[in-house]
Amino acid sequence: MTALTWLSHGSWLIESGSHRVLLDPFLTDNPAATLKADDLHSIGHILLSHGHFDHVADAASIANRDAATVVASFEVAQWMSQQQGVESTLGMNLGGAVELPFGTVKMIPALHSNSLPDGSYGGDPAGFLLTVEGKRIYFACDTALFSDMRLHAHRVDLAVLPIGDLFTMGIDDSVKATRLIEPSTVLPAHYNTWPPIEQDANVWAERIANETDAQPVVLAVGESHTL
Ligand SMILES: [Zn+2]
Repeated sequence: MTALTWLSHGSWLIESGSHRVLLDPFLTDNPAATLKADDLHSIGHILLSHGHFDHVADAASIANRDAATVVASFEVAQWMSQQQGVESTLGMNLGGAVELPFGTVKMIPALHSNSLPDGSYGGDPAGFLLTVEGKRIYFACDTALFSDMRLHAHRVDLAVLPIGDLFTMGIDDSVKATRLIEPSTVLPAHYNTWPPIEQDANVWAERIANETDAQPVVLAVGESHTL
């Protein structure tokens, strides 16, 4: 059984057996996060989709506290190591996959921008395709709609798509992405953190239910979905 807990924004806790993985931890300065870094213990890996502050803010402190490995683009991993003193990093790049103790992580393209908080170059932004306990999970992360989503993530068991608009896809394009990907289940993320990305997730869920074959699941912050 794999449990995904939405920590708000693009931040997720992924639990499988005894493995605990964080994606894009943004907790301390995140007005929407109910669980903070102190509430999350024994993290083994931290996946970073890109280097913007709202995705990496708590990565270094948690990584060093828990001796976790930061998995990111080569450039973001190098920055975490050289500028943030993270002891264990694993750099990768688009199209590459790696076997980790909890499952396989494939780094796939995202249409976004990427720099580190100090302006350093972050390489390409990414999404992640995870295979955990035989289930395929697609985290689109921060991205615009693009048709290759279908190529990379067709018929995954679960897709997590941004709906906040302004910086990423909004509701319209998230519905289109769901039609392309045809996941069994789809979850929204990257919304309601601040007023500029406020969205009514119930409107999104109704549209997914009416216009696609996927099952929409809207989580409250701190709530989990298991698969
Ligand atoms: Zn973001």
